[in-house]
Amino acid sequence: MPTLSIGIPLYNEAANLTELLSRLNAVLETISTHTAEIILVDDGSSDETAKLCLAAAERDQRIRYLRFSRNFGQQAAYSAVLDHARGDVLVLMDGDLQDAPEALPEFLARHAEGYDVVYAVRTERPEGLLKRFAYDACYRMIGWASEHRIPIQTGDFGLMSRRVFERVRDALDKRAYVRGVRSWVGYRQIGIPVARGARYAGTPKYSFGKLANLAFDGLFAFSSVPIRMAWMLGGVTMGLTLLYTLYAALKKLLFGLTPEGFTGTLATMVFLGGTQLFFVGIVGEYVARIHDEVRQRPRYIVDREASLRVDGA
Ligand code: UDP
Ligand code: MG
Repeated sequence: MPTLSIGIPLYNEAANLTELLSRLNAVLETISTHTAEIILVDDGSSDETAKLCLAAAERDQRIRYLRFSRNFGQQAAYSAVLDHARGDVLVLMDGDLQDAPEALPEFLARHAEGYDVVYAVRTERPEGLLKRFAYDACYRMIGWASEHRIPIQTGDFGLMSRRVFERVRDALDKRAYVRGVRSWVGYRQIGIPVARGARYAGTPKYSFGKLANLAFDGLFAFSSVPIRMAWMLGGVTMGLTLLYTLYAALKKLLFGLTPEGFTGTLATMVFLGGTQLFFVGIVGEYVARIHDEVRQRPRYIVDREASLRVDGA
C-alpha cells in the first residue's frame, strides 16, 4: 500500500505532463520515508493528455489514471482524488507546475513534526496585475465574510493527513471548495511560504467565469453574511421610513404642510426595487446550492480507471 498519495487534476495539460512527471519523480527519489502513488485525474481533456497518462501509467506502476466522462472542473477532480487516495498522507497539486513538486519534502518534514495539514502560502504570483487584484479581492471578501477564517493567499496545494482528508471528503459541499473545508476541519495546520511559479506551458484552464464561480462557492459555502445583509438593510430602511413618516405627520399637523417631491418618490421606488431584486438573487444563490445538495448528484462521473500494473496492493 502506498503511504503517500499525490493527486493532480489535468485538463488539457499534455504540454506539461512529461516535465511534471519527471520533476515529481526526481523529488520522489529523494523521499525514502514514503512509498508513493500518483493519481492523475483527467478532467475530460481533449488533447493528448489521456494518451500520455496511459503511457506513463504503463511505465510507472505508481501512477493511477482516472478519466472523467466530461469536464467537471478542478474542484471535482480534487474531490475524486480525495475519494481514491489510499495513502496515509495526501498531497494535492495542480498539473501545470505552478505548484512546485520540490515543496514536497518540506510538507513531509512539517507533517513529521506533528502537523495534520501543511499548506502552501503564495509568496509570489506570476499573474498580471488585474488577475492578482481579482484574486486578492476575492480572498479578502471570502475571508472577511466567513464565519470561519480561511487563510488567504492559499490554494489547494498542500498536504493532509488521512484523518483530515477523510473528514474533508465527507464534509465537502456538492460545489466543492476544498481549501475552505480543509481549513474548516481543524486539527493542527500550518502554512509555509512557497513561491508560485509561472505556468510551465499552455494557457490557464480557469476562465474568468470559472474563477468567479469558485469565489462565489467559497463565499456562499462559508458565510451567511450576504443573506444577513438583507434583513440588516431592510431594518435600516424600515427605521428611516418610520422616522420620515413621523416627520411628515408632524409637519402636516403643526404647520399644515403636505410633503411633496416626485423625484424623491421615484428614487425611493427604484432603490427599493433594486435592493429587493438584489437580495432575491442572493437568496437564489443559497437556494441553488441547497438544490445541488438535495439532488445528490455525484460531483463527477468516471469514464475509465486504470492503474495498469497491479502493485500487489
Ligand atoms: N483544471 C481542471 N479542470 C478544469 C480547469 C482546470 O482539472 O476545468 C486543472 C488544470 O489542468 C490545472 C489546475 O486545474 O492542473 C489549475 O488550473 P489553472 O492552471 O487553469 O488555474 P490557475 O492556475 O489559473 O488558477
Ligand atoms: Mg495554473
